[in-house]
Amino acid sequence: MASGDKKLVRSKSGLKIVSTNDEYRSPFVLNEPTWVPDNECSQCMKCKGRFDFMRRRHHCRRCGKCFCGTCCKNNLPLPRMCFIDPVRQCIECAQMTNKENEFFDRHLKILTNGTQFKVMSTLHEDRDPNEEVLFVCKLASDHRVVMFDSGSSSESHEAIELQSISSCQILTSGIDPQGNTVATGICILYRDSRGEDQKVTMVAPDLMQIRKQSMMWLAAMQRAMKLMYETKKMNANEMNMEY
Ligand SMILES: [Zn+2]
Ligand SMILES: [Zn+2]
Repeated sequence: MASGDKKLVRSKSGLKIVSTNDEYRSPFVLNEPTWVPDNECSQCMKCKGRFDFMRRRHHCRRCGKCFCGTCCKNNLPLPRMCFIDPVRQCIECAQMTNKENEFFDRHLKILTNGTQFKVMSTLHEDRDPNEEVLFVCKLASDHRVVMFDSGSSSESHEAIELQSISSCQILTSGIDPQGNTVATGICILYRDSRGEDQKVTMVAPDLMQIRKQSMMWLAAMQRAMKLMYETKKMNANEMNMEY
């Protein structure tokens, strides 16, 4: 089975496109919440208005809590739960979703488009340090691995699984005239496919035009890592949650 295989499923919140195999799902995907049962909820969990014939119950698709129509009126795309169409969300969740959708609309595209970096790695310690190898680094379309392409078969680097990264540190060199720290690259510690710890340093090329792209890629990568750690935590909490 190819890692990119997807299937269409219908949950009670709507139609979704998900990986056929859970192992291949994107590290940014959130589990759907358990809905608070109707009979355990006599009033809106936000405005406390009592439910009756006029004030109906609505469940937020993101947190599963129970609200009145006014407190749960936002219909927003929720790519983190793989819904095809926008879904109903409460005010708090809508704020989080709006922030994240900026990542999905903009940053994720920067990451999957990829850009050039000079790459140094503990996997290639035998390489002449003066010989700079440029790689196009990009996030795979399933969002699970960072891939390296040098354009030649003699120079290669294994793909790094996002979930195997233990630390991601931005490298800096001094401060610019505006007082901002100047980022130059990133240092990634990860566990390779053989279970050994490796270190990869990716440095932005000097050429101004590529440099700018590389900086945008790094900023997007930082957001991706943050989102991945949050996702892990939220999915773990969700599994322990009971109403
Ligand atoms: Zn309400
Ligand atoms: Zn919510």
